[in-house]
Amino acid sequence: MSQPQPACLPETAGQAHELDVSSFSGPAGYAVLGHEGRLYSSNPQLAVLLGDAVVVSGRLDSLCQNGHGPSAAELMQSLTGTDDSTITLEIADGVTRQLQFGPLRAHRRLLIVSDPHHISVQTSALEQDTLTGLANRHQLNEILSRLESERAAAQSAPTATNGNAGNAAILLIDIDRFKQINDTLGHATGDSLLRLVTGRLRRVTRETDQLMRVGGDEFLLALPCDEEPGGVEQLAIRIVELISRPFLINGQQLNTGVSIGIAWFDDEAEDGATLLQHADLALQKAKVSGRNQACAFQSYMAQEALQRRALEIDIRRALTLQQFRLVYQPQVDLHTGKLAGFEALLRWEHPVRGTVPPIEFIPIAEETGEIRRIGAWVILEACRQASLWPAELTVAVNVSPLQFDDEKLPGHVKDALNRSGIAPERLEIEVTEGLLFHNPDAALAQLTQLRQLGVDIAMDDFGTGYSSLSHLSRFPFTKVKIDQSFVRGGVDDRTQALVTCIISLGASLGMKTLAEGVETPEQYQRLQTSGCDAVQGYLISRPMEAGSTTNFVDQCSRQIHDGDATA
Ligand code: C2E
Ligand code: MG
Ligand code: MG
Repeated sequence: MSQPQPACLPETAGQAHELDVSSFSGPAGYAVLGHEGRLYSSNPQLAVLLGDAVVVSGRLDSLCQNGHGPSAAELMQSLTGTDDSTITLEIADGVTRQLQFGPLRAHRRLLIVSDPHHISVQTSALEQDTLTGLANRHQLNEILSRLESERAAAQSAPTATNGNAGNAAILLIDIDRFKQINDTLGHATGDSLLRLVTGRLRRVTRETDQLMRVGGDEFLLALPCDEEPGGVEQLAIRIVELISRPFLINGQQLNTGVSIGIAWFDDEAEDGATLLQHADLALQKAKVSGRNQACAFQSYMAQEALQRRALEIDIRRALTLQQFRLVYQPQVDLHTGKLAGFEALLRWEHPVRGTVPPIEFIPIAEETGEIRRIGAWVILEACRQASLWPAELTVAVNVSPLQFDDEKLPGHVKDALNRSGIAPERLEIEVTEGLLFHNPDAALAQLTQLRQLGVDIAMDDFGTGYSSLSHLSRFPFTKVKIDQSFVRGGVDDRTQALVTCIISLGASLGMKTLAEGVETPEQYQRLQTSGCDAVQGYLISRPMEAGSTTNFVDQCSRQIHDGDATA
């Protein structure tokens, strides 16, 4: 692929000596500035938006003298910077302008001034996005059909193609965690970021490419059929790199990234709708693979999506059709060697696929919201089962962060305790750290309510993800479950040191510790010596059917009687 030229600047401009923006029309003001603030050229709209003083004095820093404008330091930062930046400027009470700066050659800066409240009257709001000036999703179909016909024309031309070269392609570009930026830094910052991202995207697009804003933080770049092999991927990588550079908004540095899905017109995508679907699937892949990267569509993604959709439909009916059941894995007290209780683990018996593991269906249940109904059933069923065991045995239940969005959760727990008749201290709610990030204030309130009911709370899989020691002290946990990755496999000195550290930390915070995934007698011994309170794992037993638990309980009490606690 030839080096892309910025589509926003005329071919001749900026490449020779100087860019002249005086003939630029449209609702935005344009200026070319020197680093010291001198105006080299401007269009008439600039004076309309910023006032005559700037144009008459020939200097942008005259803006700093009317009491409303940015500080001289802030303005200098944007003028001398080498990357994009944005300043929001109040030119009179309640009247604001967005000043967007971008780099030009020879130490010049391009300034684009827009009125954030401006609504274009010349172009239909249906066709143009007023924030970025790009085409919007109303033009999507037209652009996709154009690509389709261009592709048809290219196919009838007898040129050799290599791989996907020669095929039209689209890039679906999504700003990573844009919602978070909007929520935490405000919508004005979000808007500025969208404009700056647009500016950078424009820099890598050619006049034949079509850039559009198709969603809140989603852009689509349509590339006609003249790419070299690998050219589209290279362009996508370049965009990822370009957007990951810091942005300067109102004097504040902001870092973000983009995820990109790439799709080509080919035998699998012969129409615009399919092409878009493929780009979307590739985008989802880029997001789940860690964001800030580009991912090209491959056929298996479509098959995965189909299977997932089928599971989504099936999971909605699974509870009614009684396809769920709980299995139970024993937990052993390391001080006494006695059975302490069981963890309830969910299983889905799918009529065609057989047993689907929770790691596959829990995320789908979470996404569809079905987890709330399923989760309520799990709590009720686990308590009912525990009521059949001796009164000293506990039952642990996994609760998804999404269940905490429902204010009724403590009510469900109370109901399950009442209906089963088990004492609250026999129930333990296991949560993962995801909960504490999802909505920490709501989580704290709900966990406190659960504790007030007398229920125990365990932090599951501790040591994975974003484990933070402050979480342990801030939230009312009664137990820490050490993740199996610290227990299984060849344990080196550092891992052992970490396990010892978690155990003593738990003890000093008044929390019990349980190690998961214990598979060998050596692991059992080591944890016992380290002062861990309890273990769970294949060494003791794999998760078992509900019907087998009573037998297991009897067997354990006989072994204890016989003095063989860990057999
Ligand atoms: P978890 O809560 O950490 O559960 C422990 C997982 O480790 C279980 O996998 C268990 O079978 C497995 N395991 C236990 N001991 C050993 C061992 O010694 N070696 C090995 N290799 N594995 C062991 P499972 O049942 O597949 O569950 C996976 C995860 O699914 C659970 O991890 C939990 O996060 C989630 N899950 C299970 N049931 C539920 C549920 O009812 N609700 C929710 N929200 N999540 C659930
Ligand atoms: Mg668990
Ligand atoms: Mg766990």
